Amino acid sequence: MTTTNQFLKPITFVKNKNISVGGCDTVELVEKYGTPLYVIDEATLRQVCRDYKNAFKNYPHAKMMYASKALCTSAISKIIDDEGFGFDAVSIGELFTILNSGISLEKVLFNGNNKTERELDFAIKNNIGRISVDNFAEVDLISKVAGRYDKNVDVLLRVTPGIECHTHEYIQTGQLDSKFGFDLSQVDDVITKITTEHQNIIIRGLHAHIGSQIFEPQCFHDEIDVLIQEISRIDEKFGILLDEINIGGGLGVKYTEQDAPPSINVIANVIIESLEKHIKKYNTEPPTLYLEPGRSIISTSGVTLYTIGSMKQVPNMTKYVTVDGGMADNPRPSMYQAEYLAEIANDTSDRTLEKVTIAGKFCESGDILIKDILLPSPQTGDILCVFNTGAYNYSMSSNYNRAEKSAMVLVNNSQSDMIVKRESLDDLISHDIIPDRLK
Ligand SMILES: *Cc1c(COP(=O)(O)O)cnc(C)c1O
Repeated sequence: MTTTNQFLKPITFVKNKNISVGGCDTVELVEKYGTPLYVIDEATLRQVCRDYKNAFKNYPHAKMMYASKALCTSAISKIIDDEGFGFDAVSIGELFTILNSGISLEKVLFNGNNKTERELDFAIKNNIGRISVDNFAEVDLISKVAGRYDKNVDVLLRVTPGIECHTHEYIQTGQLDSKFGFDLSQVDDVITKITTEHQNIIIRGLHAHIGSQIFEPQCFHDEIDVLIQEISRIDEKFGILLDEINIGGGLGVKYTEQDAPPSINVIANVIIESLEKHIKKYNTEPPTLYLEPGRSIISTSGVTLYTIGSMKQVPNMTKYVTVDGGMADNPRPSMYQAEYLAEIANDTSDRTLEKVTIAGKFCESGDILIKDILLPSPQTGDILCVFNTGAYNYSMSSNYNRAEKSAMVLVNNSQSDMIVKRESLDDLISHDIIPDRLK
């Protein structure tokens, strides 16, 4: 069975004359909200959450935590919470956004390789569900802050399981030489430190995250094997049986026709099989399994709409078609050569196909959104719809070239609601200060 992460376009995508998403005509959306515009299809987002729950329905001890760094806004947090997911947060900004949306931080796991005292204070004061401990210094800091509030803190130990996955180097995190987490050889020391020095830290389990945009189910199989072996080793050595396993996120999505990510069901079966073997072998209770998908939850539901502006034909070479956005709203192509698919959103009947390169408008030669794509001869004023931009687009966006960050609308059942306002020129200068002596 196909799951939503295997679709290239939102499940409500329709192309008649114009493209519509969530029952909303994209050309009308552009008239109402302007471009560039992030559009999130609520039906796709809810469907993928249900795909995850459905895939794990035979393992009732599975808990889904949305990795909010993929896209963290108040309305998105509301929908994710409504679907019964918890959250993985990596900064005080994400924690604040989630809490401010009316969601208890008890449903949140706090991650990161350099959590500051301010961030830990905010998390612990607001009853954070779990903290993933990343390094030795953090152990002391957590204990100190917990003492301040006279609380016990439940933690997972973030480890690097030494799994190499075939994905871009920058989004690979589980290999041995990584800035994240404890090397397996350090686990005994951190357990000894916590159990002898810090009674207010309760170790609940292990946590790993092996990378992103992963297509090979075997990676998850190997990861869970390492974690399970480590848990039984810890049980033997310390007499502590950890009953929580967090395997992180990382499941891939389909950015282009060539991408073939596995279904969520295939991944779930690999994981559940490994867990069941473990449960039999050690005759233990089924551990709680946490998953932290980010990209595969939100990517497919998002599209970005741009207006096509200038064109440049380099004689005998590339034809550049420039849009009114680029690396400021989607830095992924310039950062990791990420590939995207796009279509013209307005009516293009009677046009012939032409090979063009979609350029962004920002002052970097590397600001190219899509190299060599066939489109029905693009014209100035056309609306370009880029697919699969829900994850790591808005959340990685910047004000480079003093771009005003784009608006985001949520579409569902032919209704559109703005969920992030477009920044204004006043927003851009709202933090600037001119010292008196320059006035
Ligand atoms: C980034 C990250 C995730 C989410 O990864 P995706 O590839 O977006 O699914 C989950 N857990 C941790 C610890 C992460 O750093």
